[in-house]
Amino acid sequence: MMASRVPKNGDDAKVRVVVRVRPYLDVELRSDDELVPCAEILKSWDGEDLLRISDKKTSRTESYKLDACYDEKESIATIFAAEVEPILPTIFRGFNATIFAYGATGSGKTHTMEGGVNQPGLMPLALERIVEMAEFRGSKVEVSFFEVYMDRCYDLLEPKEADITVLDDGHGHIQLRGLAQVQIDNIEDFHDLFQDGCTRRRSGHTGLNDVSSRSHSILSVIVTSNDMDNPNTEFCGKLNLIDLAGNENNRRSGNEGVRLAESTAINQSLFVLSNVINALNANEQWIPYRDCKLTRILQDSLGGTSRAVMVACLNPGNYQENSATLSMAARSRQVVNRLHFDHEEEARKEKIDMEAKLKAWRESKCK
Ligand code: ADP
Ligand code: MG
Repeated sequence: MMASRVPKNGDDAKVRVVVRVRPYLDVELRSDDELVPCAEILKSWDGEDLLRISDKKTSRTESYKLDACYDEKESIATIFAAEVEPILPTIFRGFNATIFAYGATGSGKTHTMEGGVNQPGLMPLALERIVEMAEFRGSKVEVSFFEVYMDRCYDLLEPKEADITVLDDGHGHIQLRGLAQVQIDNIEDFHDLFQDGCTRRRSGHTGLNDVSSRSHSILSVIVTSNDMDNPNTEFCGKLNLIDLAGNENNRRSGNEGVRLAESTAINQSLFVLSNVINALNANEQWIPYRDCKLTRILQDSLGGTSRAVMVACLNPGNYQENSATLSMAARSRQVVNRLHFDHEEEARKEKIDMEAKLKAWRESKCK
């Protein structure tokens, strides 16, 4: 029997919005341009950090309150431990969650989600931990990896001629017809699959060259577990890890032709995403999930009982881009997901059980 999670209490939790400022790149450090860092993080101890960005030319300054700010010195492992790892136990108890990287092209979204050379990002880090947890929990882990480009959905694991059709049953259950969902029994299998998917994304299987920064990529991890108190009941939870397309300014980038159509589709979907988040925030009855592919796909994982973390990625020296990114991020931060469950309690229960099992499992491996 597949359990449906019955609401217990009316707890509300905000979507966490955190910022990651990337370091200056070698090419930027070597250039003759003057480097003027525009973002300043003011750490606080009350659970919120303050970020100030300033434009040296116009002396404009903007300040934003955020759930956490990570500067260029902070490792991805730190961000993973603080932002993603605490959510994972709830996936084993049948909840959904979404982690987004949002920001301008070149701000570090792909580096944060996929990773760089010898620096795994949140996607592989999450999978490593989930596979490890699943092994001793006896859960099944499956993944899908796909991209949404020009409002169409393409499989990155098993590419097909046609795009993937998104169906919903009118009750918020989404089905991506024909999308590969591959069972992962060990992390090596995942790494191979993931590498192929990332390469496919960059090689532009849509017939156009490198569409990677102009598409949204989504790694969905589906975990099916038995309820520990009731072995006849199964929980099915889903974690979406999303590398969003870069938000662009058409006027400044002088886009035309395909590029203009692409960037219009990107801006449209990011606009709808922010409308969805705002409608959730305002507790509106009607949430415009259906206005674009991305939000239709996320219907079951954004709002409701799902948790969400948005990582707003910033370029250390670009005030205008950062201002655009932060204004959307700050809007999103108001969002309240209606958490009808006591997630903290659910996560705590799962964690205690898992830690004991993990310890025993590690000890057995060492013998
Ligand atoms: P985006 O996906 O937002 O367009 P990328 O993730 O591709 O941006 O990052 C742009 C460049 O900056 C890449 O060369 C990437 O390797 C580098 N980069 C981004 N974030 C970091 C980081 N935290 N540490 C080192 N290099 C980074
Ligand atoms: Mg990218």
